[in-house]
Amino acid sequence: MYRARELRAKQKRYEREYGRRRGSHGLGKKIGGLCFLVFVLGFLFGRVVLAAEQLIEWENLSFVADVREAKEEGNPREDSSREEQETFSGMISEEEEMENISGYASGKEEPWNLRLVNFSHSLPEDFSVDLTEVGDGHQVDSRIAGALKEMIAAGKAEGYGIWIVSSYRTMEKQVSLYERKVAQFQKQGYSLEEARRQAGTMVAVPGTSEHQLGLAVDLVSSEYTGLDERQEKTGSYQWLVRHCAEYGFILRYPNDKTEMTGIIYEPWHFRYVGVEAAREIMDQGICLEEYLEQKAR
Ligand SMILES: [Zn+2]
Repeated sequence: MYRARELRAKQKRYEREYGRRRGSHGLGKKIGGLCFLVFVLGFLFGRVVLAAEQLIEWENLSFVADVREAKEEGNPREDSSREEQETFSGMISEEEEMENISGYASGKEEPWNLRLVNFSHSLPEDFSVDLTEVGDGHQVDSRIAGALKEMIAAGKAEGYGIWIVSSYRTMEKQVSLYERKVAQFQKQGYSLEEARRQAGTMVAVPGTSEHQLGLAVDLVSSEYTGLDERQEKTGSYQWLVRHCAEYGFILRYPNDKTEMTGIIYEPWHFRYVGVEAAREIMDQGICLEEYLEQKAR
């Protein structure tokens, strides 16, 4: 009896002991399970974050696509704003122009349309201009885009194809054009100094080009696209010389004005100055430098 009780007590102790061990073993399992759960939750959380990021990306992409689509389809809101801009730039009132000119003459503020840019009048380095595309990737000052398009359309309506071959240029573009020209002269055997001087009469020294101003375009006939003196023989050029002033443009570098402009004869380079100034300049056969001198007197 005693033995049996002792045995049972032993067994209980053993069981308690064993049970504790089993218990500790169970705790290990629990910790392992918890670790696994944390790992799984972490993994799932990561997936959720990734998915959310992707969703945001898709949202952005679809937004971009929407914008592109709207542009391609010709968003009516965009069109109307473009129209407004055209009306605004195409129709600069004569009063406005008069005000500009008289302001300039009295030495107040330089009007934007008569801004002189040449070898002795360079643009500030931080010069910037609001641009509008006028076709084929060409951009000009937004204020003249309407007038330019109207002029080209009018020429076309009379049977003269007029192509824009050069328009607004960035400083970087002007630098590369100028350096290429200098290199050409150097190849011909000129010293660097002489090559620069020669190049400067054909490609304006960076900072002194009207193309950087956004108010100048090089226009050629659709029948002859060479940038040389033969351009003046084309019907398109002759039409332009007769009508450009009506749209506010002038032939900027006439044949006999190189000394004043610093640029060789360019029967393709047209510059916007506004209708009134353009009429005076073209009627008198003078260049912009002379016109501004007259005004200042
Ligand atoms: Zn030009």
